[in-house]
Amino acid sequence: MNIRWFALPLFALVGFAGCDDSSSVVQPPPEPSLEEFENPPAPAATAVGRGGAAATVDVRATLAAIYTLKHGGNAIDASVAAAAVLGVTDPFSCGIGGGGFMVVYLAKERRFITIDHREKAPGAQTHALFYRNDKPIPTNDLITSGLSVGVPGTVRGWEEALRRYGKLTFREVLRPAIVVAEKGFVVDATFADQTGRNLDRFRRISSTRKLFLTDAGDPRPVGERFKNPELGAVYRKIAEGGAKVMYEGELAQKIVETVRQPPEANPPLEPGVMAVEDLANYEARVRVPVESSYRGHTIIGMPAPSSGGLTLGETLNILAVVAPSGAGEQNGTEEHVHRYLEASRLAFADRNAFHGDPEYVDVPRQGLLAIPFATERSALITDRAPTAAAKPGNPYAYQDDPSPSGPPGKPSTFDASPTAMEKETTHITVTDDDGNIVSYTFTIEAEGGSGIVVPGHGFLLNNELTDFDIPSDPKAKAANLLEPGKRPRSSMTPTIVTKDGKPRLALGSPGGSTIITTVGQALVNFFDFNMPLPAALAAPRVSQRNATDLRDTAETVFLASDMATKLKARGHVFTEQAEIGAATGIQFNDDGTVTAAAEPVRRGGGSAMVVKP
Ligand code: GLU
Repeated sequence: MNIRWFALPLFALVGFAGCDDSSSVVQPPPEPSLEEFENPPAPAATAVGRGGAAATVDVRATLAAIYTLKHGGNAIDASVAAAAVLGVTDPFSCGIGGGGFMVVYLAKERRFITIDHREKAPGAQTHALFYRNDKPIPTNDLITSGLSVGVPGTVRGWEEALRRYGKLTFREVLRPAIVVAEKGFVVDATFADQTGRNLDRFRRISSTRKLFLTDAGDPRPVGERFKNPELGAVYRKIAEGGAKVMYEGELAQKIVETVRQPPEANPPLEPGVMAVEDLANYEARVRVPVESSYRGHTIIGMPAPSSGGLTLGETLNILAVVAPSGAGEQNGTEEHVHRYLEASRLAFADRNAFHGDPEYVDVPRQGLLAIPFATERSALITDRAPTAAAKPGNPYAYQDDPSPSGPPGKPSTFDASPTAMEKETTHITVTDDDGNIVSYTFTIEAEGGSGIVVPGHGFLLNNELTDFDIPSDPKAKAANLLEPGKRPRSSMTPTIVTKDGKPRLALGSPGGSTIITTVGQALVNFFDFNMPLPAALAAPRVSQRNATDLRDTAETVFLASDMATKLKARGHVFTEQAEIGAATGIQFNDDGTVTAAAEPVRRGGGSAMVVKP
């Protein structure tokens, strides 16, 4: 039975006002037990049922979402409950030191909204601070520095989500996370590997070493129970005081101090310029989602400053032009994958040129999604992989609105070589019994963020400002250059898909810029190769992002397939990566059930659950 125990009217708890007969005081019902969080069940990657569902990378986080749904919360409450647990159990991917993007479906109003709580550049920070003697500060120095820390958005985003669309308060939704932080959880191979990949910098920074390493400076061993009471204490304060706790007062002061005078490290860390006003003034933004369509379905996604929604929409628009009948027999599956990869290459050329914070840059949203623009772009696709990187098109020609100021400068380029830093970020998908849906990706940027733990507070600060373009020429212009107060361009692609106004899918993934292609490939698998969502997510991945070396990035298991051999014959060249992404999603079935899906293998396997199996 779902009892909303904390919603009992006040007089039921304390008796009638003015009544001083203590024998009439009615005791509050006991709070629901949280014992299951101490020894959670073994995770399952797929679950089918009704009454609400959740999928995340971690069984305790999924459990927190289900617990919240069972105790009076809706999908919005449940997503925050899960996210707070992930801040404890997946602290190298996400947490209150970072930011994220939430796409929400409000079933009763049949309305979609998005909540942007992306980190932003401090008011005193300029592009020039990323350079020394006109040369960019080396990437590794920047990643692990105060200078790359953006003003965190997560707690403001959670508060905005709960206040506007939730049924519960911080006090209620943070309960599972407080238990997991204080009672601890058993370190698994994924946690130990993540620590291991960060070992040098974690050893170097005193506060981080103290929290995440053993006394000898080694990763905590698999099987050890890891507790983070300092983070538990921060959550307890937020539970009582709300987001203010993070953005004003003692903790805000501590965050600023940590950025400006990073903890003792050898060699010392580059300091940043964040100020208490940056935190006090931080606002989450409710933005109009991006809508595009594919195979008769509507794809609802995240607008700028994420490039996710527009790039996914443009890719699918181009693919629909070159393959109007899907992956039918006349195309053949391998030709279809080739066309998908080439559509993605072209969409990324446009992404790299035109996307930035919409409060600073005129992102040509309408032009990028115009079908005639997709038709123009699709003419560049041939039967073979190209021998030069794709150049951006001219979406401004397809805008009705004449106000956009035109291409801001040279498109950014990137080197697609895989790094340990591509294992960051996490995605939560939740739905409730009323049909509300949350598709939520959040992050601290690199795996381990900036590597800097706020001393005594149990969480890592992000390095999100490295998502700005830092061209070798400091005077080069680009849409995604750092400006004071600006939000860096993201690739996060929380997505919901509908058919005739009814939800069909919700999904998303981590993985840097491969996020966009992971979601794209899952949709192509679902629509064009008729895979149910769990199979569409589990299938081997390949990603084309218009890298300067022209290569596709492909998972080791993809490279072993016939598909890879056939694509090579068309001129595709691959960079191998063991894993791409760690997706989760929910499929809404015709019989009214839902299928929640997490990764069976990637990142050690995720966890999917339903309220009523
Ligand atoms: N900083 C990344 C972005 O916003 C986070 C996502 C990821 O790298 O996985 O695109």
